[in-house]
Amino acid sequence: MSAQNVLNTIKEKGIEWVDFRFVDLSGRAHHISLPASEVEEETFVNGVAFDGSSITGFKGIEESDMVMLPDTESVYVDPFTAHPTLIVMCNIYTPDGERYDRDPRGIAQKAEEYLQSAGVGTTAFFAPESEFFIFDEVRFESGQNKSSYFVDSEEAHWNSNKQEEGGNLGFKVGHKGGYVPVGPTDSQQDIRSEMCRLLMESGLRIERHHHEVATAGQGEINFRFDTLTKTADNLMKYKYIVQNTARQYGKVATFMPKPLFGDNGSGMHVHQSIFNGSEPLFYEKGGYANLSELALNYIGGILYHAPALIALTNPSTNSFKRLVPGYEAPVNLVFSKGNRSAAVRIPVAAVTPKGCRIEFRTPDSTANPYLAFAAMLMAGLDGIKKKIDPRALGYGPLDKNIYELSDAEKGEIRSVPGSLDEALNALEADYEFLTEGGVFTKEFIDNYIGLKRDEAKAVSIRIHPHEYSLYFDL
Ligand code: GLN
Ligand code: MG
Ligand code: MG
Ligand code: MG
Repeated sequence: MSAQNVLNTIKEKGIEWVDFRFVDLSGRAHHISLPASEVEEETFVNGVAFDGSSITGFKGIEESDMVMLPDTESVYVDPFTAHPTLIVMCNIYTPDGERYDRDPRGIAQKAEEYLQSAGVGTTAFFAPESEFFIFDEVRFESGQNKSSYFVDSEEAHWNSNKQEEGGNLGFKVGHKGGYVPVGPTDSQQDIRSEMCRLLMESGLRIERHHHEVATAGQGEINFRFDTLTKTADNLMKYKYIVQNTARQYGKVATFMPKPLFGDNGSGMHVHQSIFNGSEPLFYEKGGYANLSELALNYIGGILYHAPALIALTNPSTNSFKRLVPGYEAPVNLVFSKGNRSAAVRIPVAAVTPKGCRIEFRTPDSTANPYLAFAAMLMAGLDGIKKKIDPRALGYGPLDKNIYELSDAEKGEIRSVPGSLDEALNALEADYEFLTEGGVFTKEFIDNYIGLKRDEAKAVSIRIHPHEYSLYFDL
């Protein structure tokens, strides 16, 4: 779409406001709105100024002027505003017109350019399955709105089970019993359908929605794959619409990976494949799960770099509370067809050559999608470049339930990092695959690690509720 097309859309749809958005390092969207009457063709060339010093992880106060440049391909009408508003995603530039090297969206685009220059293929496709919980809002006496996930989740979880004793047990989701029961057990059909209606209206192609495994209302909506940056834009749109629809229903939706102790967490499995023009490069009939050598090498790159990669795909302290055995979240760094306990799964049911893909199951939705998708592609491409054979390095294939292996059988199987700090240590030691072709800069990675270390520290110095039951009476 050209700038002129956007201006036409503004007229045709009676748009009053144009909402310019960019995404910060942690994956939060920010916006500045201009009256539609102030938006002209020049706005698309000169961009919109903002103060970068007020955005966590961006520039210091002494060099704070930044510019957002709109990407006319990304426009959609905001489904939530009373005043017709057109949303447009932007890239970030310095006042000198240079691409800002901490702009996550710019990094995603550089990764796509790198794929083409590496001579591997033309296009990488991504499809995330981003799970979420919908909770009731809890109103505290102060009048402030706080969501139930702010309370001690372990206690809340067990208390809510206790309240059920002798009470109405009919049509309640049983422990880990949420996988696709019909209503009235699934009480969130309409809210998910409404989310999907708005997502479709906003340009996403929805494939399906369903309740997920966890006891408290957990859901998942799948939208169609697309190229890397477009899929990251789509995920931002997805989270915005899921969270705001929940709010319209007087509920809150959260993508936090593990809001409830003792129940399934929320992942963001990411399906990915590479094409050369219209030719799918991951498919080769007859190999393990019909995978080509190139696909195996891509898997090799993902698994080999996984400890470092996870600092970008699972970048919160809470991420590692999900990556524990017993909840369908992967713990071991192996690949497998069908097996959902492996970090990399190869879907085999109803898969055509064009649909042949790998599913990296480790990520969660606290990832900044631009950075996470770019990093996964870079890890996979490094595997292809170095011909990393995951079979030779002990990454499988392993088709058993890995949770149930004996210690001896587990043998050499490697595990995901146990904490954000461990993942950051791994990234500190293994980052060159990301800086290939200047996609990520070393400066970016150092800054990112610093920010995430601060988060880990902020959590670790606070007193955990469980410490009271362990130590209070000692
Ligand atoms: N919720 C699980 C996870 O944390 C996945 C469950 C599923 O999609 N089968 O990854
Ligand atoms: Mg799914
Ligand atoms: Mg799922
Ligand atoms: Mg999946």
